[in-house]
Amino acid sequence: MSRFLHPKFNTLAPYTPGEQPQNRAYIKLNTNECPYPPSPKAVRQAAAEAKQLNLYSDPTCASLKAAMAKYLGVQQSQVFLGNGSDEILAFCFMAFCQAGAAFADITYGFYPVYASLCGITPHIVPLRQNFTLAPEDYRQVGSTIFIANPNAPTGLALSLAELEKILQWNPENLVVVDEAYVDFGAQTALPLLQSYNNLLVVGTFSKSRAMAGARLGYAVGSPELIEDLGRIQYSFNPYNVNRMTQAAGVAALQDNAYFEECRAKIIATRAKTVDALEKMGFEGPQSLANFVFVRHQQASAQQLYHGLKEQGILVRWFNKPRIDEYLRITIGTGQEMDTLFEVLRQLLPG
Ligand SMILES: *Cc1c(COP(=O)(O)O)cnc(C)c1O
Repeated sequence: MSRFLHPKFNTLAPYTPGEQPQNRAYIKLNTNECPYPPSPKAVRQAAAEAKQLNLYSDPTCASLKAAMAKYLGVQQSQVFLGNGSDEILAFCFMAFCQAGAAFADITYGFYPVYASLCGITPHIVPLRQNFTLAPEDYRQVGSTIFIANPNAPTGLALSLAELEKILQWNPENLVVVDEAYVDFGAQTALPLLQSYNNLLVVGTFSKSRAMAGARLGYAVGSPELIEDLGRIQYSFNPYNVNRMTQAAGVAALQDNAYFEECRAKIIATRAKTVDALEKMGFEGPQSLANFVFVRHQQASAQQLYHGLKEQGILVRWFNKPRIDEYLRITIGTGQEMDTLFEVLRQLLPG
């Protein structure tokens, strides 16, 4: 820490991203990336756009916004685009949390970091014993609510009816629904936007569209909320989405066949993975995301994490109360998962 750092950041505990080691080739099952490359059309458009990198990107993301609105069946005035959904979530903490922020004890690790960065003491709402979220715990919480749906790292999702109750109980508070994993089996909250102007739905191209490295996220909500997000964007970094990413985003939305193919493969591999892991004695919540969250009766998660890493496989282990006996394993290709099963069989006792 330098003597120039503002003391308010002395206690800031930054987010710990999953490892991205460059020293050797790992099978990466630790950051919920898509194991397949992006749509070839997206790659081509990004490459073509590179010729114009001398020019700033369109701060309004006009083409991408039009494509996104059309794809989601909403108005363009309801769409905001960001440098990953992380940026949008950060903007939400900056803009909408004057009365505080409420979220689960076990959820996306960035929420407490953003809260801390913005000087907000979060209202932590523990999940039930089995990691499901109890909607009734969100009766009139009196602050902005953040819900990852499906949740990370559990993979569990709320139904639309449950989300609707939370919206009804909190008409004076914004409810941000983070749908990073929604394409892998949960229901999107987008239809609820017609009845609830206290809802903001946030999504990303990082997981189901295989574009984590492009950094592209979106938010959908009332035109007023979108205008507010634009206020923050234009006060921070107007060119928040770069040219290559905007071009790739439009192309990715146009290549729906590729998207459907990738996500079908992930969902099928998830089913096989659950089956294989159960046979080895693992158990965990039923995942609607592109990862599974599992523990083993006889083997410690920490030891398995280290053992897998030695064998060239990265998974995520959180050294955190309630979940330190669990591993979060991203669904990779069928072949990657077969290698995982093989190595696990070697590592497990008996
Ligand atoms: C991965 C993830 C994000 C971040 O996505 P980016 O668009 O890559 O910034 C947001 N929320 C949850 C719950 C995630 O798991």
